[in-house]
Amino acid sequence: MSTATAPEPPHTRPSRSPESAERLANTHPADWQNPKPLARYHLLVIGAGPAGLVAARAAAALGAEVALIERRQLGGGCLNDGCIPSKSLVRTGRLLADMRNAENFGALPPAEVAFDFRAAMLRMRRITTRISRNDSAMNLARDGIHVFFGSARFTGPDTVEVDGVRLRFKKALIATGSSPVLPDVPGLAEVGFLTNDTVFELQEQPKSLLIIGGGPLGCELAQVFARFGSRTLISHREPLFLPLEERDAAQMVSAAMARDGVEIHLNSVATSVRMEGGKKVVELLNDGNTATTSVDEILTGIGRMPAVHGLNLEAAGVAYDTHVGIEVDDFLRTSNPRIFAAGDVCLTRRFTNTADASARIVVRNALFMGRQRMSALTAPWCTYTDPEIAHVGLYVKEARQQRIPVKTFTIPMHDVDRAITDGEEDGFVKIHVREGSDKILGATIVARHAGEMINSISLAMVAGIGLRELAHVVPAYPTQGGAIRQAADAYTRTRLTPLVAWLARLWLRR
Ligand SMILES: Cc1cc2nc3c(=O)[nH]c(=O)nc-3n(C[C@H](O)[C@H](O)[C@H](O)COP(=O)(O)OP(=O)(O)OC[C@H]3O[C@@H](n4cnc5c(N)ncnc54)[C@H](O)[C@@H]3O)c2cc1C
Repeated sequence: MSTATAPEPPHTRPSRSPESAERLANTHPADWQNPKPLARYHLLVIGAGPAGLVAARAAAALGAEVALIERRQLGGGCLNDGCIPSKSLVRTGRLLADMRNAENFGALPPAEVAFDFRAAMLRMRRITTRISRNDSAMNLARDGIHVFFGSARFTGPDTVEVDGVRLRFKKALIATGSSPVLPDVPGLAEVGFLTNDTVFELQEQPKSLLIIGGGPLGCELAQVFARFGSRTLISHREPLFLPLEERDAAQMVSAAMARDGVEIHLNSVATSVRMEGGKKVVELLNDGNTATTSVDEILTGIGRMPAVHGLNLEAAGVAYDTHVGIEVDDFLRTSNPRIFAAGDVCLTRRFTNTADASARIVVRNALFMGRQRMSALTAPWCTYTDPEIAHVGLYVKEARQQRIPVKTFTIPMHDVDRAITDGEEDGFVKIHVREGSDKILGATIVARHAGEMINSISLAMVAGIGLRELAHVVPAYPTQGGAIRQAADAYTRTRLTPLVAWLARLWLRR
C-alpha cells in the first residue's frame, strides 16, 4: 500500500466552535501584526510546536534575540490536535468505563450510563483553550520573542522569508514537526475521512467509526470512541497492534480494546471505499478474504511524516529525506552548520517530551558551543490506552541486536496490593538489566497509570541508580509504584547465592 501525506492544512484553521475562538486569539490572533525584523537574530525558530516554543523561550530567557515563525497555530500538533485534546477525551472515556464497572465496587450504577458527546468535546476544547494561554502570542511577545505568522521558506544559507519579509539569522532551528500520512485507499478521498487535524473538531458523535492504523494514536482513539458508545472498528495491517512494543504488552492492549467492544481487524488492509445509502462502505482484505463493513466515519492518517515540504531546504543546503525528515548528526546539527533541527521533523521517536528535550539540546549546542548528544538522552514514552503501556530504554529485541545479555524481572500487577484494591490488575512491571549486573537497560510497564510509574525508572537510569539500589527506596504503601521495589527485591533475591545463604546461616547459628 503506498502512502501520501495529508494536504497542507490552511494557515489558520477556521474556528468551527465558539469555544475555540479564545484559543485562536491566543494561538493565532486575527489582527496580529508581524514585528519589524531585527538586522539579524541570534536564533530563528521555524515552527511553534513543543520543540520550537521550548527553544524560543529558553533562548530568549538567556538573553538571545529570537524570531519565532508559525504558519498555523502556536502550540503545534500537541496543543491543537494531538496530546491535549486526545488525553482530555481519554479521561472522559476512562470515567465512562469506571461508571459502567461501578457495581463491582458496590456503587449502584444507573440502568444505563448516559453520555453527552457535545459536553465531552466542549470540556476538551475548554482545556485546550486554557493551556493555550501559557504560550499565547501576547505572552511570547512580552518575553521579547519576535513572533511572525506565515510560512517560512529558506532563501539562502542564513536567510528565511516569511510573509514577504526576509529575516537573517546567526543560528536557526527547524522545528516544523510532522503531518498525517494517508493510506492510498481507492475511493477514500472521494468519500471523505477524518484525521487528527479534524477529529477533535467533530460536533456530532459518529454512530460508527473505522480507524485505519493500529499505532499508539489509533489504539487510544479506538478505545475512546468505543467507550463513548460509537460502534468502533480498527484495522491494522500487521498481526499485532503497537508494532514497537513488546508482544505481551501489545496483546494486553488488544484484549482491553476488545473488552471495550472495539471490533478488531488484524492482518487487515482496506482495499476500497465507496458511498452507499449515506454510509461509507469499506472492503477489508484479510488473508485473501474480503470483508465488507459500512460506517459513518473513517479516521486515518495517524501515522506521521516529517513536515519538510515548502521549506526550500535546498537554498539553505540542508539535507533531508521526505520520509526520514531533516538529516541531523548526534548534536542535532544539519548539513548547514548554522542550522539545527529538533522534534518530529528529524527524530524517529515522535513525542512531545523528545521534541522538548531535543530543543533544549539545540539551544545549548547552537548558542553556547555545547556538545550535548541526542543519543545520551533517556526519554520514556507512553500509549494512553487503558491499561497504559509505557516504555523507557532498550527493548529486549534491541538489546539482543546489540548483543547485550539481558535479564528481566517481571512483577504482574495482580501481585501488587494497590492494584488489587483498585481493581486495576491488568498489566505488569518488567525491568531489564544487563545480565550479571544491576544496570537498568530498559523497562516496560503495562498498568492503568504506567505513564506515571515509568518516570521512576527513567530517574534511576539518568541518575545511574541500579536495580539493587532501588530495593532500598521505600515506596509509600500501598501504591502501584511499589511494584518497582518488588522487581528490585526479585533482583536482590538472585544475589543470594548458595555460598551467601550458607554464610548467613552460619552467622545466625553463632
Ligand atoms: C492525536 C495525537 C496524539 C498525541 N499524543 C501524544 C502524547 O500523548 N504524548 C506525546 O508525547 N506525544 C503525543 N503526540 C505527538 C506529539 O504531538 C508530537 O510529537 C509533538 O507535537 C511534536 O512537536 P514538534 O514541535 O516537533 O512539532 P509540531 O507539534 O508538529 O509543531 C510544528 C509546528 O511547525 C509549524 N510549521 C510547519 N511548517 C512550517 C513552516 N514552513 N513555517 C512556519 N511554521 C511551520 C506547524 O504549523 C506546527 O505548528 C500525539 C500526536 C497526535 C497526532
